[in-house]
Amino acid sequence: MKKIVVLGSTGSIGENALKVVDSLPDKLQVVALAVNTNYERVLEQAKQFGVKIVAVTDPVKAAECAKVAPAGVEVLCGDDGLEAAAALDDVDIVVCAVVGMAGLKPTMAAVSRGTDVAIATKEALVAAGGLVTEACKKTGASLLPIDSEHSALFQCLTTAGRATNGVSNVKRLILTASGGPFAFKPDVDLERVSVKEALNHPRWSMGPKVTIDSATMMNKGLEIIEARWLFDLSLDKIDVILHPESIVHSLVEFVDGSMLAQMSLPDMRLAIQYALTYPERYAGDLPALNLAEMGNLHFSEPDMDRFPCLRIAREASLRGGTMPTVMNAANEVAVAAFLAEKISLAGIWRMVENIMERHNVIDNPDLAEVFAADKWARNIMIKR
Ligand code: MG
Repeated sequence: MKKIVVLGSTGSIGENALKVVDSLPDKLQVVALAVNTNYERVLEQAKQFGVKIVAVTDPVKAAECAKVAPAGVEVLCGDDGLEAAAALDDVDIVVCAVVGMAGLKPTMAAVSRGTDVAIATKEALVAAGGLVTEACKKTGASLLPIDSEHSALFQCLTTAGRATNGVSNVKRLILTASGGPFAFKPDVDLERVSVKEALNHPRWSMGPKVTIDSATMMNKGLEIIEARWLFDLSLDKIDVILHPESIVHSLVEFVDGSMLAQMSLPDMRLAIQYALTYPERYAGDLPALNLAEMGNLHFSEPDMDRFPCLRIAREASLRGGTMPTVMNAANEVAVAAFLAEKISLAGIWRMVENIMERHNVIDNPDLAEVFAADKWARNIMIKR
């Protein structure tokens, strides 16, 4: 029985993680849940799974939660509560599925104690991948990818006898990208698309942040950086290919020219289940893929001019230091501005590049410097 903490339990990854736990009741047990604001739902989840510890980041909501929580359920409050939930004793895996930069502190709290983290919050690795992986090396904690592409790479690499270390027989990693709602519509003007159109992802049902990141393809840019840290490979060994069906979730090409791919229906429970049960596989209740029914799978090169976020992310990662942190923060603020209909979709990458140009990079930052760079980028954008 693995004991699990789910951070961000009311988001789409969190709810799906709980479905996986529900389907494997003799393998997985939830011991704590954390949410940002939705305390009504987290209390329902706590009741369903017999969880005794819930954390609510928003202090006002945490106080309301404490008033109505049943006897025997402890309510942790604020950012400290989130970190405390991530750093509980006797936990096998912390699922980090909180949105954005807020995932960094609890991820650090868990891995610094030697607890494995099943990571969905790619922003934590983008902003501070060096610090997170360094802490993992010190304590022996592992990062288990939940992002479907990285789960695919992880599955291919572990199947080939290479896990996250010693990937020297790997020629390159190939991340597949669905292309979001616009990559296969070359006539759509990305200056003029509406929020509703951008939120209409053809394959995946996800939260608004990652769905907009998919529409700009910044999601794939962030995933390039995520892969760099998870698999300890240089950026020039990580490529992107468009694959609109989202059946092949990514591929590994080895030095002998052989390629391994992982395929399944686009259902995020598969990646979550593999992360939680690794290195075992269990039947669970996931849908089967029928390739004959699929018929055709397509692959093509992304349009780098139309989707500059792929280039921007590579440049940020190559520059290193606090530059990816700033890129990530600028993107989070810009996505929020697009969702609030204050800027256009193309305005997102213009804002991100503008902030990156103004940033004085700090090399080899510590955690405080990472948070300072993040704050600098957010403040300068709010003042605009
Ligand atoms: Mg992904």
